[in-house]
Amino acid sequence: MQEHFDVIVVGGGGSGLAAAASAAEHGASVLLLEKLPVLGGTTGIAVGSFTANCTSLQREAGVEDSLEAHVEDAGKFPPPQYEARNNAALRRFCLAHAAETLAWLPSMGLRFHGPSPEPPNRVPRMHNVVPGARAYIAALQERVRQHGGVIRTGATVVGLEPREGRVTGVIAEIEGRRRHFGARRGVILAAGDYANAPALIARYKGEKFAGIEGINPHATGDGHVLAQQAGARLVNMDITYGPEVRFVAPPGRTLQSLVPLNATVMRLLGRLYPLLPGWVLAQIVRRLLVTWQHPEDALHEDGAILVNQAGERFCDERRSPEREIALAAQPGKIAYILLDERLCERYSRWPHFISTAPQTAYAYVQDYLRLRPDVAVQATTLDAVAGRRGIPAGVLRRTVAEVNRQRTAAGQPPLQGDRWVLLGPAKAYFTTTEGGAAINERFQVLDEAGQPIPGLYAVGQNGLGGQVLWGHGLHIAWAITSGRLAGRYVASPGAR
Ligand SMILES: Cc1cc2nc3c(=O)[nH]c(=O)nc-3n(C[C@H](O)[C@H](O)[C@H](O)COP(=O)(O)OP(=O)(O)OC[C@H]3O[C@@H](n4cnc5c(N)ncnc54)[C@H](O)[C@@H]3O)c2cc1C
Repeated sequence: MQEHFDVIVVGGGGSGLAAAASAAEHGASVLLLEKLPVLGGTTGIAVGSFTANCTSLQREAGVEDSLEAHVEDAGKFPPPQYEARNNAALRRFCLAHAAETLAWLPSMGLRFHGPSPEPPNRVPRMHNVVPGARAYIAALQERVRQHGGVIRTGATVVGLEPREGRVTGVIAEIEGRRRHFGARRGVILAAGDYANAPALIARYKGEKFAGIEGINPHATGDGHVLAQQAGARLVNMDITYGPEVRFVAPPGRTLQSLVPLNATVMRLLGRLYPLLPGWVLAQIVRRLLVTWQHPEDALHEDGAILVNQAGERFCDERRSPEREIALAAQPGKIAYILLDERLCERYSRWPHFISTAPQTAYAYVQDYLRLRPDVAVQATTLDAVAGRRGIPAGVLRRTVAEVNRQRTAAGQPPLQGDRWVLLGPAKAYFTTTEGGAAINERFQVLDEAGQPIPGLYAVGQNGLGGQVLWGHGLHIAWAITSGRLAGRYVASPGAR
């Protein structure tokens, strides 16, 4: 027998939970289907920054801001070739509604730190949820349940059900069986991005990028495929955030993932957070930094080289994305960054850091050695440091000798000294993808002719609609804002 709901949401990350919470708050019966056993998606592993203008925290901090100023500044972040393809009207719409979203979230017990500066934003606009992005997931899922919404995990949506030109439900695989669910008002696609979908990456960005993984291994673009099968136009599918070189994830669970997905615990932590001494906060932020932030390109401009597991150099480290494409083709798709004594010294203090959350915190060589011993080893000789990573010492010696021959000829400092550090394994990763279903400001998915597909909506990374959201904090701002507004709209009697 088919179960019926007013609204069905596909995906339990930030945008899907916001859509479900908002639709349920507005009186709709809601079913949210999440393919994994746990909620969260990419939102659940994010830092949690939310960038917005004209917020109450800005006013409390005496920051004067305007929508116009933010619209202008948001255009300064992306590379020009991407910015030229931005859907300006939709990004403006996002920026115009983000502050309302930030005002909605504290009603669920969420707390924010900030605003923090992030140039070229002319004023501080970055708000960071405390203790981290999993707080969004905990609070939103509680709100869904409080309003009678139904959440099913382990439920993969594999198809949409069209009837008489309208999307009327979904087909989901649950415990190996196919189930049909009917949606009286609409289906909201909130299935995230396709950073780890080699077929989509190859098709839209090029075969040579297909070996590069997404940070979130489950970001497989299911919602994009579902939208396209229903006739949607997909826009900007070749635009990706990354690829970038990043260290592999820590073994076991990250600090963030240890925090239980429980709204009461999150609220408690949110209250405790401002009371913690500065040095404890600094430690927490630094741990987050060494978990996901990518090593700065400046390391390579200053002379650090990348070597593979065999101890060979395989690219010009200063050229991206060629560097990442080459890295993904190495055995095990891994590489190491080699620092000599001069570079270790240089990257031990401001202004030379290995990674950063700009204006928030910086991590240096010693932070990696202490906090991420799985991706940082040191020794007094090149042979010894090679041995600590199972790299053939003779090959690494020959690689360094060749680099030094070239550098001496060019009048550049050679790699040498009594301190050597290998940072890695590192891989090439896409952080997220910027392609999405074309939508209008009611989040209706549009077909190739620009007409809404009745009953089908898209939010978050699934429904980016051609926006280019660069810098920190705009993806989460869009995910939760689009979810909130779409849920409200689809729940309303006027929804089509
Ligand atoms: C390491 C990292 C840090 C980041 N930090 C920030 C930050 O601080 N600020 C910021 O703005 N952005 C940040 N981002 C980007 C941002 O987190 C994401 O773009 C945003 O949270 C995406 O939200 P979403 O709801 O669209 O997707 P997701 O949160 O990924 O949710 C999609 C959900 O859909 C589920 N799903 C997929 N397919 C199906 C299916 N077929 N059936 C059912 N369920 C399905 C997925 O399992 C997932 O749970 C970061 C990204 C990364 C990788």
